[in-house]
Amino acid sequence: MKLHILHCGTISVSETVPWGNGIDLKNTVKQLTAPERERVTLPVCAYLIEHPRGPVLVDTGWCREISPAGVYDPAAVRRILPAHLAALFHPCLGEGMAVHEQLAAWGIRPEDLEAVLLTHLDPDHVAGLRRLRAARRILLPEDEYFWSCRTVYRVRQPRSLWMDLPVSREYYRGSPLGPNRWAIDVFGDESLMMVNVPGHTDGQAAVLIRSGERFVLLAADAAYSPRNWREDIIPGFGFDEKLQRRSLRWVGEMAADPGCAGVLCSHDPDVAPGTLEF
Ligand SMILES: [Zn+2]
Repeated sequence: MKLHILHCGTISVSETVPWGNGIDLKNTVKQLTAPERERVTLPVCAYLIEHPRGPVLVDTGWCREISPAGVYDPAAVRRILPAHLAALFHPCLGEGMAVHEQLAAWGIRPEDLEAVLLTHLDPDHVAGLRRLRAARRILLPEDEYFWSCRTVYRVRQPRSLWMDLPVSREYYRGSPLGPNRWAIDVFGDESLMMVNVPGHTDGQAAVLIRSGERFVLLAADAAYSPRNWREDIIPGFGFDEKLQRRSLRWVGEMAADPGCAGVLCSHDPDVAPGTLEF
């Protein structure tokens, strides 16, 4: 199995986003108001899996419209995101880095994609979806969809980015995997599992890619880097601290499994674009 790590833009956020160790008012205020010198620039990853059934994309990064000239453009950001999310993320997408641009460079058309898996509906994960609407299947956990129009998610997940697109919702089912023992078996052969890792959002999925006895886990935003599970620091951006900690511990257990060929986090500054073969 081959896995390509794509960087589809950056976020420039308060360091409490990855390392806040709790969701509280103090962290939230910092995240919305941090001056540039207190921000860290983190990549926004998507992943292309060369699966035997066909190419599968996980998440989509930012869209070209958020950075029309390839540089940070606050006015363009405000056309895509509401003010509080623009203030939180400071998104930027360099030239050629949009997911559809990178796929085109690989010679892959959206309609060639066997599936697009959405780990969750925060805008840094779904903004690029519109250009991929011709993919054969776009998969989203029903639990993520359910919450997206409720509670804080109404202001956190702008539905204009994906609501009118042909997204298929799948229910999590009982599984030995994950802190909730809930997973979606994408092809029915356990080669690709969307595993519920709640806390950052209720319905968030990590993606487990299996090849024989080996696997890679795409942890989405359950962790921002291995430091989170090694030092038991939960990210400071999410919805439910207790669930975040349970999910983080499960990710740490998977990282320690002898079959693990890698755990990748969506915004890990130490993971460069490249290819993992396992
Ligand atoms: Zn994210």
